[in-house]
Amino acid sequence: MTLRKNLWQLKKRLTSRPDKAETPSQAHVLYHAVGDPDQHGGMQTNLHLVSQACFHAQLRTLKDQGYSFLSIDEAVALPPKPGQKVCTVTFDDGYRSVQEIAVPVLEELQIPATFYITTSLMEGQPLWRDKVRKVIDQGWEAEFLDTYAQQHGPMLKEGENFYRHSKAPGTPSKQVDEALDTFLAGKGITLASSALYLTPDELKESPLLTYGNHTHRHYTLASLSEQEQAEDIQAAENKLKSWGITPSRVFAAPFGNDGTYNEATFGVLKDLGYVGLASCGGKTVRNATFEKRFGLTLTNRFLAANEPALW
Ligand SMILES: [Zn+2]
Repeated sequence: MTLRKNLWQLKKRLTSRPDKAETPSQAHVLYHAVGDPDQHGGMQTNLHLVSQACFHAQLRTLKDQGYSFLSIDEAVALPPKPGQKVCTVTFDDGYRSVQEIAVPVLEELQIPATFYITTSLMEGQPLWRDKVRKVIDQGWEAEFLDTYAQQHGPMLKEGENFYRHSKAPGTPSKQVDEALDTFLAGKGITLASSALYLTPDELKESPLLTYGNHTHRHYTLASLSEQEQAEDIQAAENKLKSWGITPSRVFAAPFGNDGTYNEATFGVLKDLGYVGLASCGGKTVRNATFEKRFGLTLTNRFLAANEPALW
């Protein structure tokens, strides 16, 4: 064997060794629905719907890689020991499929998880994003935007996309939701509740499962006043408690990427006795100023894709 080939092999071995980005010491994994498209009204497998086979393979691999699985509350409370690889598993929004398809896998592998519940969905109210989709699907986008502009001024600037921009931090979610209700009522439309979400009596008690606050209405928090944020977060907390749940002390921000929550969110959470905020989005910048000022831990979660391996 030539020296050149030896060096090449050594280089290959060194570069193929998993680096930090490949096996992070802290892996906070976020899922939404788990299962097949036909169980989810045609929703395609992607970042919001992971098949049971991929879900199983991802968690199995993490176990094999030596991760310790903790609930998100435990992970926030306990600083990891040197060299310890920690993983948390969370599910946002409250899809029924998580109970039916993901929980058996969690039980088999003995992995704890937290379900972050949007409480209005559990009560059978439609998600405001579905109202946006309805307006678009019916071809009423221009008419709705005209009506909205007459009351509140224009929502979009030239070239902005309605679907995307309606959830942007600069667009007041609550106001948009209320305008959608009035507009759809004028069209004689009441959106049916979605059968995709769990109902309160379906929440399972298990030593592996905890439940957390994902707000009552899933608005973009940074688009709301501090008072409105407090109301939406408190409303979800009250609902969860009324269903016999002691909510996790780590809150999961709707959408969760940079800019969807703000300083006021940290203030509200602090006042309500929360110890952490779970965000989402690989490139989320940790906001050390807010964390420090409010003494809350920011946990950046990784959105799992429908692939057998996470990284
Ligand atoms: Zn969500």
